[in-house]
Amino acid sequence: AAPVPHPWSRMWKASPAMPRELKDLYDLGELPPQGHVPARMHAMAIRPERYGEPRGAFAREIVPVPRVGPGRVLVYTMTAGINYNNVWASLGRPADVVALRRKAGEAEDYHVGGSDGAGIVWAVGPGVRGVEVGDHVILSPGDWDERADDIRTGRDPAASQSMRAWGYESNHGSFGQFCLVRDVQCHPKPPDMSWEVAGGFLATAATAHRQLFGWHPHTVRPGDPVLVWGGAGGLGAFAVQLVRNAGGRAVAVVSSEERARVCRELGAAGVILRTDFDHWGRMPDEEDPVAHASWLSGVRAFGRRFWEVLGERRNPRIVFEHSGADTLPTSLYLCDNEGMVVTCGATSGYRSEIDLRFLWMRLKRLQGSHFASTADCRAVIGLVQGGLLDPCVTSVVGFDRIGEAHQEVYENVQPWGNRVALVNAAGT
Ligand code: NDP
Repeated sequence: AAPVPHPWSRMWKASPAMPRELKDLYDLGELPPQGHVPARMHAMAIRPERYGEPRGAFAREIVPVPRVGPGRVLVYTMTAGINYNNVWASLGRPADVVALRRKAGEAEDYHVGGSDGAGIVWAVGPGVRGVEVGDHVILSPGDWDERADDIRTGRDPAASQSMRAWGYESNHGSFGQFCLVRDVQCHPKPPDMSWEVAGGFLATAATAHRQLFGWHPHTVRPGDPVLVWGGAGGLGAFAVQLVRNAGGRAVAVVSSEERARVCRELGAAGVILRTDFDHWGRMPDEEDPVAHASWLSGVRAFGRRFWEVLGERRNPRIVFEHSGADTLPTSLYLCDNEGMVVTCGATSGYRSEIDLRFLWMRLKRLQGSHFASTADCRAVIGLVQGGLLDPCVTSVVGFDRIGEAHQEVYENVQPWGNRVALVNAAGT
């Protein structure tokens, strides 16, 4: 059948003349004729039989292009961000994402991940609002249904029943030539922003923004000391900058001198090398007095270092957490009275032990924070566009290096900041 042309609102580049021979599979970067949705696509997929370290879990496959149902938007993916999410998907733990979706009635026995990305709107399903074919968009991982009852009656979308981390809990993420999103996930790409930047920063920047400004009254105020774990990582590099922009004083924790230098350049008031300490992990209980005393002496030494690099004896009003089991006991101990530990992740393990006395007796708050609101997304895109936030997209990898790039994240040997993979942009 001849393709049905549609009015392109914004052209990416000169589209091939019509009519033209239709193919059911296109090379990376090859632009299908306008309006034509091919049957198949290249994707970096994960399968349960390959679960394990990312290097072996990802493989380039040819899979069906997802069908565009009501409220859904099909995007021709240009670039895809590399995030921790798909390290977890590769490992198949703590959740087996394919098994969970199959249990929920979805047919695919594979996972095309990718929770960050940018591309061109290729087709829209019935009921889609605010997005047109041809729009250049930045994609957010917050896959929720704005029409769901709980959201319409005021529940925070990130806490709604419909919330899924796109490209992790849901399939058809940005590691395919086409990806499937909802309209709420599409944000206009500033015309002068490159595809590499556009696809690489939103998930971490918006998450960090919400952690630092979304939990009133614990938002960063001028002069506030803030402890930032992993200050040169994807989330941490934004946290350091956002704290600096708000007049706060970030003390970043890192594991190398090179990462320490990066944090200072991003505006950290001080940096701590976590390799100077060894009290990490589970907090021993008082029935083992020797181990307990040793833990306390470790955490107190860490606290003294915090004061030293900050230049005053103040504890962090906010602790920016995502590192999990290894660091949470320290975070809660060090957090100032009436302060907040805000967490969105658990890189070192999700089963943590804390001494609850520190929590209630000092009126501290332990706050969960998951992704971000639409307002957070628009805020950070605006800050990047306006030059007030460095997107920290520090490296660009080819499509076939997506597995290897996740392996480096898994081993914590990745370059600092955020990484992006070329999908169809590989062919441009
Ligand atoms: P990155 O890998 O880019 O950065 C994480 C940083 O954490 C590393 O740079 C490392 O810094 C530090 N780190 C690693 N292991 C430890 C440890 N045992 N103790 C202390 N620090 C450690 O990852 P992201 O910043 O992108 O993501 C971090 C976590 O947040 C992940 O678990 C991810 O799944 C989660 N996340 C959750 C989101 C949500 O919406 N819920 C959104 C985005 C991320 P160094 O070695 O220099 O100290």
